[in-house]
Amino acid sequence: MTSEEVIDKARQYLTERDAEFLHRAFTFARDAHYEQFRKSGEPYIVHPIQVAGILVELGMDSVTIAGGFLHDVVEDTQVTLDDLEEAFDNEVAMLVDGVTKLGKIKYKSKEAIQAENHRKMFVAMARDIRVILIKLADRLHNMRTLKHLPPDKQRRISNETLEIFAPLAHRLGISTIKWELEDTALRYLNPQQYYRIVQLMRQKRNQRETYIEEVIDEVKNQLNDVDIGADISGRPKHLYSIYRKMVKQNKQFNEIYDLLAVRIIVNSIKDCYAVLGIIHTCWKPMPGRFKDYIAMPKPNLYQSLHTTVIGPKGDPLEVQIRTKEMHEIAEYGIAAHWAYKEGKQSANDNKSFEEKLTWFREILDWQSETHDAEEFMETLKVDLFSDMVYVFTPKGDVIELPSGSVPLDFAYRIHTEVGNKTIGSKVNGKMEPLDYKLKNGDIVEVMTSKHSYGPSQDWLSITQTSQAKSKIKQFFKRQRREENISKGKEAVEREIRSFGIEPKEVLTQDNLKRIFERFNFTNEDDMYAAVGYQGITAALIATRLTEKVRQKKQKTQNLEDTLEEVKNDTTPKKAQKRDSGVKVEGVDNLLVRLSKCCNPVPGDPITGYITKGRGVSVHRTDCPNVQTEEARQRYLHVEWEDSCTDKKQYHVDLEITGYDRRGLLNEVLQAVNETKTNITHVNGRSDRNKMAVIQITILIHNTGHLKRIVGRIKQIRDVYSVTRTIH
Ligand code: MN
Repeated sequence: MTSEEVIDKARQYLTERDAEFLHRAFTFARDAHYEQFRKSGEPYIVHPIQVAGILVELGMDSVTIAGGFLHDVVEDTQVTLDDLEEAFDNEVAMLVDGVTKLGKIKYKSKEAIQAENHRKMFVAMARDIRVILIKLADRLHNMRTLKHLPPDKQRRISNETLEIFAPLAHRLGISTIKWELEDTALRYLNPQQYYRIVQLMRQKRNQRETYIEEVIDEVKNQLNDVDIGADISGRPKHLYSIYRKMVKQNKQFNEIYDLLAVRIIVNSIKDCYAVLGIIHTCWKPMPGRFKDYIAMPKPNLYQSLHTTVIGPKGDPLEVQIRTKEMHEIAEYGIAAHWAYKEGKQSANDNKSFEEKLTWFREILDWQSETHDAEEFMETLKVDLFSDMVYVFTPKGDVIELPSGSVPLDFAYRIHTEVGNKTIGSKVNGKMEPLDYKLKNGDIVEVMTSKHSYGPSQDWLSITQTSQAKSKIKQFFKRQRREENISKGKEAVEREIRSFGIEPKEVLTQDNLKRIFERFNFTNEDDMYAAVGYQGITAALIATRLTEKVRQKKQKTQNLEDTLEEVKNDTTPKKAQKRDSGVKVEGVDNLLVRLSKCCNPVPGDPITGYITKGRGVSVHRTDCPNVQTEEARQRYLHVEWEDSCTDKKQYHVDLEITGYDRRGLLNEVLQAVNETKTNITHVNGRSDRNKMAVIQITILIHNTGHLKRIVGRIKQIRDVYSVTRTIH
């Protein structure tokens, strides 16, 4: 393509203003690369023109295409970023800067993990997805012209293409670029296999093509009958995918199904499923081979129906069915989304571009929620806007760290001993403090000394990775055990004192054992050492150690508080406090109340508990109101005074049930009267079943007295039950 052809093609979907802008970018690049030549002998500008051409074919916006024209000027000519910003705008300069930076990442073939880290670094460094698209276009053209380079460079670049760029293209769903990159790389990396496969494909080509044509005719006839318009073609074969199947799955060439494949492109999703039905009635589908990527798109948004049927000659035949739009996306991926989102208006509009980026991020988010998320993450474990940072070792290996990491995190990632012996760090050849925040692409060098005393405490707060932190803690644990034990012990004792408790009061063998076992230590020294190196806090240990003593103290404290209150209480109610007939655990002068809920009387087993501001409340031991945990904690031993019997009177509520007949209530009241007992309250009612319920409140002296009354009432004819009520 010439520059004119590129710009004409762009004009088809961009504005005239955009076309002028592109022309300006082209002339700027042409002038900058003046008198530069490529290895092929062509003027250098040919390369940027082709790169821009690839971007136009992807339907990219004008800024990206301009970036294609200008992508090499900063790297290869005198032009600076400032010049670019002045001549064009910030956006163009930003894209070119991104491409230039990516160009500086040197990939050395190593293990797969390094390849993955490189891909991640690429994505992380190219904050704008368009930088990657330009870079892919750049790489594609370089692969197309690779024959002009010496063999060792061919191999290195092909290898890098296969490990870094093809997977990136796949991630972005741009399969046209992905396939071409892979096939070209294979040609240089494994020419024997490459040409063998080409040969094999050629041999049976005629036979295969005739067969496919038959299939296509058959499908066409069927579709004509039901009036579905479709574009049917044999599916292009990709050498690299055949190669992979032969090598990875150890298959013979003629065992590979997708050699026989057709693709059917229709107008609507409805038609996709209709065509599928027709295919499945013509030929028998192979079980387990149907895949509905329309309902369940692939992570890179690929959509299509796939099925394999037993074709007319008894061979497996692959069929793909999709709409036109799905096909565009299958071929051009993220770039196709661009075009569809944009419609045919100017793509050089910041706002709509921002919308697109947002939309792209949403896709990424959405993808992480699909069931295919795992596969997605495996393909490339990083989001565009990742929270990881990628840095180099001086040897060029890429190390992945959480963003915010510092040279110490890097050092511990290399090796624990490197971390422990670190005394300083150089970043990009310059001394930097140990808490320097690493940036993508930094080359990090750690300086160590065997005379180092090891990590210092503040490293725990400087480091970002849990790996570094745990290694530092481990160091303290091991190297400074004695020191940590005494430091830990001191800290724990200090915490115990802060509770107002003498350490020796709680540091008993039993108590210590109970606590270190609870925290899974094997002995007390281990526990103190852990406190010393901050594996666990002294406050936590001290809190547990003093638990029981504090509870006891709290109870005494409550009692003391209450006593204090009583002493200061000069209100008249003080006079009644002795009337209860209850004494409290060796304490006189305490305000005692008999609870109204269960009305205890002398002879009942009783329980006291301290109420804030209201002295001691006395309940019957079986009263549900003192069965709570809170009441138990405030429990206080109380007992009846021996002398109280007969003198004092206590309220008791009784409930009597019986057959509702005339005179029953009178007989009950009479029975009570006969025992010379005062009644203070009476209430009676009956229900529909002729059941009478009588509630009376009486004044009695003790349980013996109460028993006599209850016995007397029970003798009355038609009484069913007599019970003491608890409210
Ligand atoms: Mn280039």
